[in-house]
Amino acid sequence: MKEESMDTTTKVGRLYVEVDQSVCQGHALCHRALPEVFLSDDETGLSYTTNEPVPPELEDEVKAAASNCPERAIRLRS
Ligand code: SF4
Repeated sequence: MKEESMDTTTKVGRLYVEVDQSVCQGHALCHRALPEVFLSDDETGLSYTTNEPVPPELEDEVKAAASNCPERAIRLRS
């Protein structure tokens, strides 16, 4: 009988996140929750992100931040 093989696929970050600054109101909720992902513009106070994929271990927190943004300014794409 053939044994089922284990899935040894390594999860690689493929989620991207960006802030629509035409909608962001600079509450900084996202920045305070995840400063390593959501950066705050010193001049405008608006949040922004880099173009780097979200680290896999932070994906759930990034999705939560998107859900918690009062302006729905956080966009996720994969
Ligand atoms: S929580 Fe939303 S509106 Fe507030 S700073 Fe972050 S992206 Fe902007």
